[in-house]
Amino acid sequence: MPLRDDRSHRTYEALRQEFPGKFDLVDISKWKPLSKSELLLAHTRSFVEALFDSKKSREKVIECFELYDSSGKPNRYNPSLAKKDLAEMVEDILLQGRGTAFSMKEALTEGISFFLGGGMHHAMADGGRGFCLINDLVIGIRKLQEENLVKKAWIIDIDAHKGDGTAALTCDDNSIKTLSIHMEKGWPLDIGSGEGPWRIPSDVDIPIPVKGEVQYLDKLEKGLTELREIHSEHINFAVVVAGADPYEKDALPSSNKIRLSLEQMLERDKLVYHFLKSRGIPQCWVMAGGYGPDSWQVYTQFISYLMREAE
Ligand SMILES: [Zn+2]
Repeated sequence: MPLRDDRSHRTYEALRQEFPGKFDLVDISKWKPLSKSELLLAHTRSFVEALFDSKKSREKVIECFELYDSSGKPNRYNPSLAKKDLAEMVEDILLQGRGTAFSMKEALTEGISFFLGGGMHHAMADGGRGFCLINDLVIGIRKLQEENLVKKAWIIDIDAHKGDGTAALTCDDNSIKTLSIHMEKGWPLDIGSGEGPWRIPSDVDIPIPVKGEVQYLDKLEKGLTELREIHSEHINFAVVVAGADPYEKDALPSSNKIRLSLEQMLERDKLVYHFLKSRGIPQCWVMAGGYGPDSWQVYTQFISYLMREAE
């Protein structure tokens, strides 16, 4: 949940110490939150209008972050302790969506970018869910397509949870192909989740069973090969939804059906990175899920690897 933890900050601080003078903060004071027309690239008009209506937008945030349970009691949320009004949260999230879009453009010029935020892969056309209010991934790619900077793109989702919003939003869009490697069981694929658009398959889905960690890297490699063999025509951009929640020290109970070691997490990231780099495909990485006090290690070790490789 990017809004509630300090993993971006810890990652940034750790990297700044390891590579003095190599990292500058981007000045975002002139950034504008994503606009209505940009949101419409992925979302329905009624949902977009609701986000700009202060009363309705509060409801949308409550739904998305499940801030009240079915009996109406606050859930993971104490209204009297909240630092921000829920409507203000919407603006923060739309600003974060701007960050993803900015970072995608950086990737096009630099070959690779890593945004310490973003990756809201559960958001559907008509509303947010699973802590993801808007689908910054699909919006960002479609913006680049509108500008004729990208023809076809891959979204490679290595978060512990299935990239279900992304799959649903792009299932009829031949210009965006998706791969998702995720927990075979658990949210959003458990029986309790019922039927809905979250069952729509990605172009390549790789379910990992409980205790399936030893096969994880092999299966990911096979999945990438399948993506390349079946869906590689005209691909000139990729987004990697690099959730840290498959890490064994991740604190979210709903991500504990995959428990990769820190070393396996680095192998995962290197596999995807070199797969794209060796094909000359610009790649934009986003944080997606990663919960608790240790998730920063996953992002930091990979960015640190990229820095050392570039030296
Ligand atoms: Zn996740």
